[in-house]
Amino acid sequence: MDIDNRRIFIRKQAEIQQGPVVYWMQRDQRTNDNWALLHAQELAISMHQPLIVAFCLIPGFLGATIRQYGFMLKGLAVTARKLVKHNIQFSLIHGLPQDVLPRFLLEAGAGILVTDFNPLRLPMDWRSRLAERVEIPIHEVDAHNIIPCRFISDKAEYAAFTLRKKTERFLHDFLTEIPSLVRHPRSQDSHDKKLPDWNDVGKYLNVDHDVPEVDWILPGEDAAREAMARFIEERLDVYNLNRNFPDKQGQSDLSPYLHFGQLSAQRLAFEVQRSDLNPGSKMAFLEELIVRRELADNFCLHNPGYDRVSGFQPWAQATLNKHRDDPRPYLYSIEDFEPGKTHDPLWNAAQKEMVRTGKMHGFMRMYWAKKILEWTTSPEEAMEIAVYLNDKYELDGRDSNGYAGISWSIGGTHDRPWGERSIFGMIRYMNFQGCKRKFDVDKYIQENLKSEID
Ligand SMILES: Cc1cc2nc3c(=O)[nH]c(=O)nc-3n(C[C@H](O)[C@H](O)[C@H](O)COP(=O)(O)OP(=O)(O)OC[C@H]3O[C@@H](n4cnc5c(N)ncnc54)[C@H](O)[C@@H]3O)c2cc1C
Repeated sequence: MDIDNRRIFIRKQAEIQQGPVVYWMQRDQRTNDNWALLHAQELAISMHQPLIVAFCLIPGFLGATIRQYGFMLKGLAVTARKLVKHNIQFSLIHGLPQDVLPRFLLEAGAGILVTDFNPLRLPMDWRSRLAERVEIPIHEVDAHNIIPCRFISDKAEYAAFTLRKKTERFLHDFLTEIPSLVRHPRSQDSHDKKLPDWNDVGKYLNVDHDVPEVDWILPGEDAAREAMARFIEERLDVYNLNRNFPDKQGQSDLSPYLHFGQLSAQRLAFEVQRSDLNPGSKMAFLEELIVRRELADNFCLHNPGYDRVSGFQPWAQATLNKHRDDPRPYLYSIEDFEPGKTHDPLWNAAQKEMVRTGKMHGFMRMYWAKKILEWTTSPEEAMEIAVYLNDKYELDGRDSNGYAGISWSIGGTHDRPWGERSIFGMIRYMNFQGCKRKFDVDKYIQENLKSEID
């Protein structure tokens, strides 16, 4: 098996020692189709060493609630079982990676550390602090993007069309079949086959329990594979016809799996590409899954202000500044937004859809965020509220896609200037009438308000 070196970023250069290989699993929480795990196994086999997967559990992360933690932990339980079956040790460690991993590595006598890639500020910071505190080499492997994010571009791309061109050039190299993990030939004498007591793990968390877990989606990599197969069989063929209509079930609903790394985007893209379904639908889906999704990681990697007004393009900041003092038709605070108590039934329905199910339809997410800009005192307040609500309720929240999507809606990121108007300046505008022309707004509102009464 040959992992493409362009996937690997040497986070810390040092001589590889004789000792087990440790993979610190963070963003890509799966055994299947995981380039970071495959690289770790390849190293371990060539060194005749055992392989250990370590996961650092922290009691709270960027406002995640039990909804997201529950999904993640149940998924991890599946992954841990699979690892042990492959003769790979799984260790759940409590604490921040930079605090707990150095000691863990020392005690395991580790020879090299492999990890996955995450462009968000906090996980980036963990990785750099960790690199300062360990003596062994660290290999960071991009197991999330099909074309590795650091490889495809060393700057923030201006828009989808600039990334698309590069994607077209390299897709053939990277959109390949992925080899399987093999049963690991070696284990440590003290190989700990015991799995964590997942019920006990919950006690360690310090998260909001008022946002309940959801049951429309089953966590874990096996469920993710099944959901992928169902989507391809039942809905992919008409994806281009239905995906943009919030009153239809047109999207794949796979984003929570992709977010937690329970499903590999490369696997999904590969299966979609080789299916013999409607080429228009396949193209539309791959545009979202590859170009849009990978553009979001590019945005977060190269723009430290990805969740702030300071991260908008200069033209967008200028136009929003020019209209800073424009009168707002309505002014709401978080107390009005969060329970869905604005004057607009469509906005309220979208908010309630998200609060109840953990997933707002993709089209409504744009409308939802743009209205927050229109009905708050400043773009800064709008960004703060949108990020807070998105990350609290969406099962796929705290994702590059979310930060890019909010920044697109409120700050014109990856978009172009449009005709100038009040409050928005040249940021693209959306309104209720436009939605009414596009889809059955009443049906969507009724569905989301009715289920509240049920
Ligand atoms: C304001 C706003 C907030 C958003 N918040 C999030 C978020 O928190 N987490 C998140 O994953 N996505 C977010 N998105 C992007 C997009 O809306 C979701 O990825 C999509 O709706 C997820 O549903 P799906 O998996 O059924 O999508 P599908 O239509 O089935 O698409 C398949 C996959 O393609 C990718 N994708 C689709 N649309 C986009 C897009 N516009 N940008 C980047 N990637 C895309 C996703 O990985 C998605 O799972 C946001 C968009 C906006 C405008």
